[in-house]
Amino acid sequence: MSHDTAWALATIQALDHPIDGFVRLRLHVPGWTSHRAGQHVVVRLRAADGYTAQRSYSTASMPGDPLVELMVERLPDGEVSGFLHDEARVGDTVEVRGPIGRWFTWDGSQRAIAFAGGSGAVPVVSMLRHAVAEGLQERLRVVVVAKTLDVLPYADELRAAGAFVALTRENLGSRVAATPYPDEVAPLLDDVEAAYVCGSVGFVGYATRLLREQAVPESVMRVEQFGVTA
Ligand SMILES: Cc1cc2nc3c(=O)[nH]c(=O)nc-3n(C[C@H](O)[C@H](O)[C@H](O)COP(=O)(O)OP(=O)(O)OC[C@H]3O[C@@H](n4cnc5c(N)ncnc54)[C@H](O)[C@@H]3O)c2cc1C
Repeated sequence: MSHDTAWALATIQALDHPIDGFVRLRLHVPGWTSHRAGQHVVVRLRAADGYTAQRSYSTASMPGDPLVELMVERLPDGEVSGFLHDEARVGDTVEVRGPIGRWFTWDGSQRAIAFAGGSGAVPVVSMLRHAVAEGLQERLRVVVVAKTLDVLPYADELRAAGAFVALTRENLGSRVAATPYPDEVAPLLDDVEAAYVCGSVGFVGYATRLLREQAVPESVMRVEQFGVTA
């Protein structure tokens, strides 16, 4: 089956709320073979009266994982994220199309930095899992930014894999709350051939500006923006 076009009826195999305001879903998608780290799927909800709503969600699972893992942040009055967070249950089905995306993918062949804010960390987790599984950690440097540690999805996994975590509303160890300073990011930019930036509109503006100021060429930047302005 072609995942670029076809919808599949996916079953929720596992569901939990590892941190407040987020739901993690592990989906069985019939016909799913694999995906590239960084790709996303489209989830479509269908009401009894035929009304549908669809949104994009990045895969956190690494290439080769037979299940598709999503981590969805519940937005205030969010139509799809609210349903997935509050109503969805193990055994339920949702329509899924994917994997989608060629540009925002990392296969390990390039030295890269991934710079993510909040739920923007989700596709970066897939990249990091891929890097760890393939022994390619030295090719992928990761910077993640969140207000506090308890609203950062996959915080423990990211930190264990060597990601640089900057919190803006609380101190982390000896690091005082602040967005990443240029001199914290600069050493991670040596020789990078690709710079992945992912997060809200506001975060993407901030992160691409910082990278430009560090002389990272526009041509190596790959940006994924998550919806409305935070
Ligand atoms: C490629 C891609 C990958 C993504 N991956 C992820 C991911 O891994 N995890 C994740 O959590 N999200 C991800 N997103 C974002 C996701 O697609 C949705 O945008 C998000 O879940 C919100 O959808 P929703 O239906 O819950 O909210 P919506 O109902 O679309 O509303 C979004 C927010 O906007 C507000 N809003 C709605 N309409 C208006 C209006 N007219 N004026 C002002 N405010 C309004 C709502 O109150 C809500 O807070 C991704 C987006 C893209 C494009």
